[in-house]
Amino acid sequence: GNNHLNAKLVLLGDMGTGKSSLVLRFVKGQFLEFQESTIRAAFFSQTLAVSDATVKLEIWDTAGQERYHSLAPMYYRGAAAAIIVYDITSTESFERAKKWVLELQKQGNPNMVTALAGNKVDLQDKRKVTTEEARSYADENGLFFMETSAKTTVNVNDIFVEIARRLPRA
Ligand code: GDP
Ligand code: MG
Repeated sequence: GNNHLNAKLVLLGDMGTGKSSLVLRFVKGQFLEFQESTIRAAFFSQTLAVSDATVKLEIWDTAGQERYHSLAPMYYRGAAAAIIVYDITSTESFERAKKWVLELQKQGNPNMVTALAGNKVDLQDKRKVTTEEARSYADENGLFFMETSAKTTVNVNDIFVEIARRLPRA
């Protein structure tokens, strides 16, 4: 039937928050304690079956945008979905995530499905950003929110599946 969808998904967020690790966990089921920092954007594709459709996610794991912000629009242009990642042990990364949200609201595709991921939820004893503050921020800004761990796998599949579910159907 006509229930196949291709969608570009981009990961944005501060360096070191775990963008590459989330993608690696999702696509390959792996985790590296010392993930090499991405030199350039890496591209992965993964097909998911959700209730009413098959969704092929074309995932762009960005790098360089953290330092060279001017590169960013090239990544999110044409994206149907974005995951904005912060690290729950870093308030700075949460503030940075909010800047990404603002930028996408101004410049991104208005129908973009946007998720906020509070990654490294396994590091509870180092937590600086509470679940409550992140959730209320996400609610106010029309994002869906999950706390994830690329290390322990918590919510990694779920966040990608939820994106696939929320993508507008043709
Ligand atoms: P990126 O710069 O956003 O792509 O971040 P990376 O994926 O390169 O991860 C940065 C560091 O954080 C690496 O040492 C990862 O092993 C570590 N890391 C990533 N995700 C997690 C997680 O969920 N929990 C923990 N404890 N460490 C993580
Ligand atoms: Mg990376």
